[in-house]
Amino acid sequence: MKESEAYLMRQRREAAGIVEPVTEKLCTHCGQWLARAAFPVSRLVSTGLGSWCRACKAEDLRQRRAERRKTPPAETIEAATQKTCRHCDTTRPVADFPTNKHTRDGRSPWCRSCHNAATRNWKARRKEQAS
Ligand SMILES: [Zn+2]
Ligand SMILES: [Zn+2]
Repeated sequence: MKESEAYLMRQRREAAGIVEPVTEKLCTHCGQWLARAAFPVSRLVSTGLGSWCRACKAEDLRQRRAERRKTPPAETIEAATQKTCRHCDTTRPVADFPTNKHTRDGRSPWCRSCHNAATRNWKARRKEQAS
């Protein structure tokens, strides 16, 4: 809906006595006139209300969270200095874990020695199968 149309609609609603003029606000994101209560309180704007309605804010936040899940921020990798190996159950410095871009913290769940052992086993098994 265009902003002008939304404005006209609001005017009509005001004229019909459906809404009090000050109780509604235009969400600049979805372009809808919504009740004052639908807007989060913001100290950053003169009206004291955010320019996006709660639903739009929530949706934006959800999307940003999903975005963050895809690419873990560098801080979380640096914040964790120790990690427990899921294979040998030993806690080691994160540097002892191979990097893995498929995991949330960017490190493999197995420590380097478990990884190397597994790779060795796998290679040996492959040799056996080949011969
Ligand atoms: Zn909205
Ligand atoms: Zn291990």
